[in-house]
Amino acid sequence: MKVLKFGGTSVGSATSIKTLIEILKQESKAENKPVIVLSAMSGVTNLLASMAEKAAAGESFTPQLAELQTRHFDAAKDLVDIHNQNPLLTRLKIYFNELEDLLQGVLTLRELTPKTRDLILSYGERCSALMVSRIALQYIPEVIFVDSTTLIKTDSAFGQAKVNTELSELLISGFYNENKGKLLIVTGFIASNDAGQITTLGRGGSDYTAAIFGSALNASAIEIWTDVNGMMTADPRIVKKAFSLTDLTYTEAMELSYFGAKVIYPPTMIPAFLKKIPIVIKNTFEPEFEGTVISHTSKESHLPIKGISSVNEISVINLTGSGMVGKAGFSGRLFSLLSREQINVILITQSSSEHTITFAVQPADAHKAKALIEQEFELELLANKLEAPVIEDSLAVLAVVGENMKQTPGMSGKLFHALGRNGVNVRAIAQGSSEYNISVIISAVDLAKALNAVHDAFFTQLNKTLNAFCLGTGNIGRTLFKQLHQHNQFLREKNKIQVKIAGISNSRKMTFSADGLPLDNWAEELEKNGEQANLEEFVDRMINMNLPNCVFVDNTASPLPITFYEKCFKANISVVTCNKIGNSSSYAQYRNFKDTALQHGVDFFYETNVGAGLPIIRTLRDLMVSGDRVQRMEAILSGTISFIFNNFKGDASFHDVVKMAQEKGYTEPDPRDDLRGTDFMRKVLILARDAGYAMEASDIVIDNILPQSCLDAQTVEDFYTALKNEEAYFSELKNKAEEEKKVLRYVGKLDNGKATISLQMVDENHPFYMMSGADNIIAFTTDRYYERPMVVKGPGAGAEVTAAGVFADLINVGAN
Ligand code: ADP
Ligand code: ASP
Ligand code: MG
Repeated sequence: MKVLKFGGTSVGSATSIKTLIEILKQESKAENKPVIVLSAMSGVTNLLASMAEKAAAGESFTPQLAELQTRHFDAAKDLVDIHNQNPLLTRLKIYFNELEDLLQGVLTLRELTPKTRDLILSYGERCSALMVSRIALQYIPEVIFVDSTTLIKTDSAFGQAKVNTELSELLISGFYNENKGKLLIVTGFIASNDAGQITTLGRGGSDYTAAIFGSALNASAIEIWTDVNGMMTADPRIVKKAFSLTDLTYTEAMELSYFGAKVIYPPTMIPAFLKKIPIVIKNTFEPEFEGTVISHTSKESHLPIKGISSVNEISVINLTGSGMVGKAGFSGRLFSLLSREQINVILITQSSSEHTITFAVQPADAHKAKALIEQEFELELLANKLEAPVIEDSLAVLAVVGENMKQTPGMSGKLFHALGRNGVNVRAIAQGSSEYNISVIISAVDLAKALNAVHDAFFTQLNKTLNAFCLGTGNIGRTLFKQLHQHNQFLREKNKIQVKIAGISNSRKMTFSADGLPLDNWAEELEKNGEQANLEEFVDRMINMNLPNCVFVDNTASPLPITFYEKCFKANISVVTCNKIGNSSSYAQYRNFKDTALQHGVDFFYETNVGAGLPIIRTLRDLMVSGDRVQRMEAILSGTISFIFNNFKGDASFHDVVKMAQEKGYTEPDPRDDLRGTDFMRKVLILARDAGYAMEASDIVIDNILPQSCLDAQTVEDFYTALKNEEAYFSELKNKAEEEKKVLRYVGKLDNGKATISLQMVDENHPFYMMSGADNIIAFTTDRYYERPMVVKGPGAGAEVTAAGVFADLINVGAN
């Protein structure tokens, strides 16, 4: 026979109870009928607890009592035939009247003892089990309602009583044998002490009731029916990508549930473990799902860990003292004191110098623990052998669990890398001696981010999520969104990366979504639901959303976003940008960006600062990190000027070629912005800095292409007139080059730390001779590439290739 336990949500409403009854009809066909254990309707135990507290505080509990009554009456009326409703409603009403009397007593006395509290809480299970048994009786005539307080005996530790296993098992098996052939519907969670007073087994304790019955009756399985598909790799409410586990060992399940996986109550595992009874976690709302089996042996698993769980609010107490902590007997005294006073210690760590002990407790216990320690160690405190205990609040425990951890090296490295990269500060670490778990104490506000980041780091077969916050919806911005939309599937399948756009802003509007904005109609979304743009607020909101694997993408050409880069790095957010202004302002700022990013373990990628999507920055970085040294760089990095000189040949006039470049959209609105070489200078400066030279813009010598009269022109129109007037100057240059069988090229050069940009004539042997369109080219001469330089060449401008470069940077952040 089996024991089936149904949790709060499974009895939470008329609809859920209907589903449950279908399962009971099916299961009761078995020759040995199962025993059914039920929880209170979902939320009812909390409701009862809050009524009790209200009464103790002298406040009214009437509205909540009415709510409790309505929830039960509604379900009963819905599911019990009208002729049979009265006896059930009357019995429920008797319970509610008793409860009201009790609460009234608490209100009068303004006192709520743990004993009274347990009695009040017991009505949740009594009402639900009674009600469901009457509903079930309509279809299964063998049903009887069983109040577990007569069968499970405990000590008097109200709130979390200890079970007298031997006696309880005797009573349970006796009762079962007397009722052979019946279908027992039993209240979970509640029991009684020797004096017959009602006790409870701890919150979530109905699971434990099922295990006690299972053990007493030597059940073939204990099934825990709940509202999720079994035990998952993390709490699915926090980690969307959590997935169901097929099997676990008792130890693994114990560790996961001890550290917060609420799906099963930790003590449940003990009776099952002792009798080798498998526990199966099933989903009431998806009964065909096979469930998670918890047993002695789990199947061979390729998973590095089984799951990650967390306790979301804990307090930590630190004890320091060179004369005391770490001495033989100290920990013994400390922890027996806490255990005597029933303070549950969640986790302990001791520094290797042994002068500090850190331990975690429930926040409600922290001040009591501190006071107890101060009392117990009064003499030591007076003698300064021990410092006063310090409490730290608002912390959380995150634990990774799995038996495979023992034989897999690098597990803690993976954990700390994921935490560090996401700026999650670790307050303390504990590794269970079993090596089945590593737990860390972190700040409670970082918990959701940490759980998701660690889940991504360990379960690499899933997609890693990047949360991108994108600034700028111009040509490059919108092309990037288009490319992301087109390649999303490919990225997920091939690279295991999923890029979510968690925020978008342009200069007018901004919008956010932690679940990711739609890539196909982000524009409409921004227009319709966007709020007024504010860059500072955009950055603050991004930081406060505290999402894992976060990237700030600057697709603007504005100086404003630059002022926020440092703040991003400090918040452990990587930056990807095509905006050149940041890296080409002062060297101090460039250095600061690099150093801050490095310090915080995040990325700063700006491949598209030079040559759009061409791998120039990356190539240079790869050369540098592998120990090569750049002797010389020669490059054509202005697509605009490239286009002009590629077309300035034969009969063409310089004026006409510039005009054509402008008409084709290759130039800035004022073509002199290109021809002055400012943009080119910025690129050379960034390359020089990346090659290791602490250079400023003023160190770069720019040889002007334009005669003074062209530079002096007041308007663009005047500029074109000036170009016409200077035609002789330009044609002389061109003719001279053609006579020598050369071509004109505007070349940037870095040679032994000296940077220049100048107009040159190159012959057909030069790698820059053959150029077309708006191509960029760069030749690196290095210690390794000294006979022939390494050349990177290709289209170096345009929205498609630039967006593709930003895209590649983004994916590279994902790979780290
Ligand atoms: P019941 O009322 O059925 O006893 P609980 O609320 O006690 O249900 O436990 C089920 C809940 O546990 C799920 O809804 C889920 O949100 C939460 N949970 C936390 N961690 C996990 C995990 N690792 N796997 C599955 N569920 C988990
Ligand atoms: N109803 C009890 C609680 O909410 C017991 C349980 O659900 O397991 O804690
Ligand atoms: Mg539960």
